[in-house]
Amino acid sequence: MPVANNCCTERQQRLWDSLKALDPPCDAMLITSRPNLRYLTGFTGSNGVAVVSALETWFFTDPRYQFQAAQEVTAKPRAVKGQLLEHVAKLAARHRWRRLGFEPDHLTAGQVELLQSKAAKSLRFVARGGVVETLRMVKSDEELAAIERSVETNSRALTAALKRLKAGMSEAELAAEIDYQMRKLGAEKPSFDTIVASGVRSALPHAHPTRAKIEPGVLLIDMGAFQDGYASDMTRTFFLGEPESKMARIYGAVLEAQLAGIDAVRPGVKASAVDRAAREVLKAHGLDKAFLHSTGHGLGLEIHEPPRLGKKEGTRLEVGMAITIEPGAYVEGVGGVRIEDTVVVTAQGCRVLTPTPKDLRVL
Ligand code: ZN
Ligand code: ZN
Repeated sequence: MPVANNCCTERQQRLWDSLKALDPPCDAMLITSRPNLRYLTGFTGSNGVAVVSALETWFFTDPRYQFQAAQEVTAKPRAVKGQLLEHVAKLAARHRWRRLGFEPDHLTAGQVELLQSKAAKSLRFVARGGVVETLRMVKSDEELAAIERSVETNSRALTAALKRLKAGMSEAELAAEIDYQMRKLGAEKPSFDTIVASGVRSALPHAHPTRAKIEPGVLLIDMGAFQDGYASDMTRTFFLGEPESKMARIYGAVLEAQLAGIDAVRPGVKASAVDRAAREVLKAHGLDKAFLHSTGHGLGLEIHEPPRLGKKEGTRLEVGMAITIEPGAYVEGVGGVRIEDTVVVTAQGCRVLTPTPKDLRVL
């Protein structure tokens, strides 16, 4: 429902409360990150900016999005011609703002230059990166329901695609089948480029599917969907034919590490403690050097968002955070194994959303 007046929504109000606590105080905050815009105003288009102040939120877009913005945006949308940021500079001048917060990771050097050239000389720009991202870490019930729908679609798409796996198929063909099934089952699109890596290529954690035929041995699939704007993320490692004993051992170790990671998730623990729990299991198996990335990441409107579950991450987990647990072990010239679920932090620990089984499976 469009909101007739410019009253702040609860999310806009929470942003303002966070900004108030920071020094120096800003008169308003410019929002240019697309996921942050969607989170704060509901806008799903590609060209828009919002300005949030204590009492009011302004939203600017171009005439292509006039009708869409009227339906989606929880602020009075203005469809304007020309550079949106010129209108932001005019707004700042009209209100005689002295300090405008901005998102340094979501504004180009050229845009900063444009803003400075159009704004009053007295206007100062204050970097306020990560403020909205911090608010986004803890999800609402509606957001968690959207993530769960996305996770279910993702798992159903994997099941459907594996039914169509046949001899002679290439990695790229299987990846295309996965993407097709995802969309057929209700996703808007994949949340990242689907990874299908066969044989020794499974040792590349971010392999791109190639025209090479899927060969006997390891088959690693990492896939995620966006549904209703929210991401899912899952990795499964299968074997075509009975695995060699070395790969079966690696699989067992990674699964044990993944379960230890899940077991360590509970409110109040540091994200680094979850990483350590998984890493220690791999160390006990002599595989710590083969674990080439962090244990997981938050997800929501973006596939990767805070908190990161890495060695040095001090963020404490809170009820309502949606994160992945995805340890892996990669041996060059041999192969790799990664097992990844999406989980939600609960009062008791966590709830694993991903329904796909993860026992060693020979296809
Ligand atoms: Zn992931
Ligand atoms: Zn993944």
